[in-house]
Amino acid sequence: MGIVNDVRENGLAGLEHNFITAKVEDLVKWSRSRSSWPASFGLACCAIEMMATGAAHYDISRFGMEVFRASPRQADIMIVAGRVSQKMAPVLRQVYDQMMEPKGVISMGVCASSGGMFNNYAIVQGVDQVVPVDVYAPGCPPTPETLIHAIETLHQLIEDGEITRRRAETGAGADVHITEIPAAATPVPVLLGVR
Ligand code: SF4
Repeated sequence: MGIVNDVRENGLAGLEHNFITAKVEDLVKWSRSRSSWPASFGLACCAIEMMATGAAHYDISRFGMEVFRASPRQADIMIVAGRVSQKMAPVLRQVYDQMMEPKGVISMGVCASSGGMFNNYAIVQGVDQVVPVDVYAPGCPPTPETLIHAIETLHQLIEDGEITRRRAETGAGADVHITEIPAAATPVPVLLGVR
């Protein structure tokens, strides 16, 4: 706590006369969890909430992920925001395959997770049939608060190594279902570090 207080009060100068020890593996996982970049990939109305999550009020740059990458080769998080049509499924899989390892997937909204109200032959009845899903964000659409909850959950899974462990063992996703957070009647700031 002494180091933390020194840094809090004096910035980097507070590190003087101190040192920190850690395993390289833990540092790599920690830095990955705080610099994950999502692929630009919006499929339907849920994508509007995803865009709102990136904009000024919710500002996901606070979590080290301000840039939605246009190239999947520069992205390591896929947010499936909206229903997945049969026609889009192979494209979605191709984007996923081209993303950097290790990578995580958030299924955003009931349509992506289960087909939602589109119970028909044109829509994939759950994106887990196409890519391994790590976190399911419920709602139609999920609020930005819910998406941030999903992102924070994914960051925790990256940090504790759960995603890489699951992929190596079974090839499946972490399959975590989070609870929905309703939008506040009066918008309140989403605080950094509150999961
Ligand atoms: S879950 Fe609702 S908001 Fe999201 S894509 Fe489906 S219909 Fe649109």
